[in-house]
Amino acid sequence: MSAPICRLPFEFAEVNVDGDIYFCCPLWARGNCIGSITKTSFDKVWNSDTARAIRKSVLDGSYKFCDRGICKFCPADSGEDYAARTMDGHYSKSPKEIKFNHCAECNLACGCCRKSLYFTPGDDLARLNSEIDSVYLPLLDGVERVCFAGFGDPFASRHYRELIKRAAEKYPDLKFLFHTNGVGASRQMLKDLGVEDRLYGIQVSIHSATRETWQNFTRGRPEQYDALMENIKYLSELKERGLLPTLQINFVITNFNYRELVPFIRLAKSFSSDRIEIWGYRNWSLQTPTEEAGLSVFRPGHHEYDKLREILRDPVFAKPEVHLYPEIKKIRDEALQEAGA
Ligand code: SF4
Ligand code: SF4
Repeated sequence: MSAPICRLPFEFAEVNVDGDIYFCCPLWARGNCIGSITKTSFDKVWNSDTARAIRKSVLDGSYKFCDRGICKFCPADSGEDYAARTMDGHYSKSPKEIKFNHCAECNLACGCCRKSLYFTPGDDLARLNSEIDSVYLPLLDGVERVCFAGFGDPFASRHYRELIKRAAEKYPDLKFLFHTNGVGASRQMLKDLGVEDRLYGIQVSIHSATRETWQNFTRGRPEQYDALMENIKYLSELKERGLLPTLQINFVITNFNYRELVPFIRLAKSFSSDRIEIWGYRNWSLQTPTEEAGLSVFRPGHHEYDKLREILRDPVFAKPEVHLYPEIKKIRDEALQEAGA
């Protein structure tokens, strides 16, 4: 049987700031942008020279444009024969899923992401909203699923909220996935946006097991933590009632929060989450090299690296719903090997 291939370059496109399109996270893709929708049409971007080169590298198994040491790798599971539809890297079908990731506005200011709160200035907000009909909505023609967001929060960003509402109105069969900090993910918000019964998943990034660590990590206010807890209980009920196919809880490891990894998993499981993802912090060109080194507790040489290794030996990380990204899994595997487990 041939090795599984990553489906993203055939099914997925992510819209970043300035209309730059990627097949997945820009860091996983080693910065290989396939084109910009502000410069040319999406159809041309989808089959640009870079897009075709990436697809060829996926089909030949070299993955030379990918950082497989940190990426999630999404194996094809649909039985789709991508090779049969690909000629010299040109893929004849449109993406099934679009992710919007182009607005930074958020109601928190996590230390791994930004130095302070960011609200889109009035002129930029007006421009983004004026592009909804001409630039963003047309990307959803024929698409099955849309995801908001990895950068900025879907419920805090005024632009995302407008785009979600308009997308829900224009595309009645479209399903929605939200990647959120959870503070604004209330029943009322989902209802107001017209997506309450059109969810295919929600990912909530909590990064902690206690209020104190959450506040240190996100610079959030106590009442925002209360809102998060209330909203996640509501999402958990939706999951239990079969109205939310996937409830994923996320944790980004830094030196601030790694000590809470094990209690975090217990907390996430208490919310009926079916998937828990854990990965290491990345520097989005915000921190100095010294700050980056301090945050990166998962790098050998960090003065608390051994403590993290010890924590990762816990059997809770072997649970099927717990997914460690490759670099964190490697640390756990080595730690277990050394312990003779
Ligand atoms: S293998 Fe990894 S880097 Fe490459 S397309 Fe898939 S997820 Fe992205
Ligand atoms: S919640 Fe997400 S987008 Fe907002 S500051 Fe934190 S990491 Fe950044």
